[in-house]
Amino acid sequence: MLPSGPQPAAVRVHDGVIAAVLAYDAPSTVDVDLGDVALLPGLVDTHVHVNEPGRTEWEGFATATRAAAAGGVTTIVDMPLNSLPPTTSVAALQEKKAAATGQCHVDVGFWGGAVPGNAPDLVPLHEAGVFGFKSFLIDSGVPEFPPLDPAGLRAAMSTVDALFIVHAEDPSAVSDPGPTRRFADFEASRPGAGEARAVAAVIDAARATGARAHILHLSAAAALPLIAAARADGVRITAETCPHYLTLSADEVPDGATEFKCCPPIRDDANRDALWAGLADGTVHCVVSDHSPCTPDLKRPETGDFGAAWGGIASVQLGLPVMWSEARRRGFGLDDVVRWMAAHPAALAGLRGKGRIEVGADADLTAFAPDEEFLVEPAALHHRHPVTPYAGKRLHGVVRHVWLRGVPVDGTTPRGRFLTHE
Ligand SMILES: [Zn+2]
Repeated sequence: MLPSGPQPAAVRVHDGVIAAVLAYDAPSTVDVDLGDVALLPGLVDTHVHVNEPGRTEWEGFATATRAAAAGGVTTIVDMPLNSLPPTTSVAALQEKKAAATGQCHVDVGFWGGAVPGNAPDLVPLHEAGVFGFKSFLIDSGVPEFPPLDPAGLRAAMSTVDALFIVHAEDPSAVSDPGPTRRFADFEASRPGAGEARAVAAVIDAARATGARAHILHLSAAAALPLIAAARADGVRITAETCPHYLTLSADEVPDGATEFKCCPPIRDDANRDALWAGLADGTVHCVVSDHSPCTPDLKRPETGDFGAAWGGIASVQLGLPVMWSEARRRGFGLDDVVRWMAAHPAALAGLRGKGRIEVGADADLTAFAPDEEFLVEPAALHHRHPVTPYAGKRLHGVVRHVWLRGVPVDGTTPRGRFLTHE
């Protein structure tokens, strides 16, 4: 899968880097002949919550990166929250790197966090290599990572010349669903209109400051026209969505099935179709996992209460086949999926050596059998607590082999490196 599309080819690797892209039958010392299996650039997942240190019982670097590699993902960028301390200072970044050292099976970069009061930390954190700054406009779910208000977001954007990635939901539109086993009650408590209102606030902040902004995990199709119009107007704004918003529907969530809970929520069929249209026309240009696991007792309380359950869907290992199964049904090609899940996330983070099979890029490669099918069995998942809303689904596309800088990832020897913004 080359940047120009699929074609028969051979990839020559030297010192971990793609040295040449040749004709399939070019003479060489052939090491691996994949036949009809697709060779993709390793995927780049810029939205992963590893949670270590501090909440390592939820997820950790060894398990998260093993799951990533099993799913064809060779680069992750870790979110600044849910670990303790959150990555809101250089000291916290150093603690996180110390915790991750020697555990990573894929390459790992880090986002920093912009929270009330840490303005003096933003420039040093950026200089220390974080890819940009995450902030929330609503309660994040953990007390140590409080939200900014729109004025605070603007102030942060004016403090450092960096990418700002934002969880955009407007708190005034969100209510407490109370204890409920009905997904519809939970979804109604976080309406699409609240997302659209917060997206408008992010657009205003990006417009006023000239900063680069990115909307995380867009769920509400109502925000698409705002993003498209702002971009046409020259505002530096991009957006991502996630496999669950594109493939699951609110109408199919059984009562009490809190493994489907995430924030913002999965919405209805019409919304899902509109998100696909937004991907097709380029309004949304990345698809990333928002892999956000926790312990099973928090994810699936015995009461089946959507109000109490932790919000987050852990899918770094399943994103590619989940997306590919639905994309092919809707008439998209594997080249589209690779653009959304490799090239564009790499570009978002400014990772020039990732996400494409091209001379000079890192030889991060995924062999993927697109026509093979498999049944999702939680026991086959490598993240720490294999709870998944995809259990029992039959999916298309099997990851056969993964190489990180030319070396097969075996899940035993961690060869991942830390990445810093270029
Ligand atoms: Zn997230």
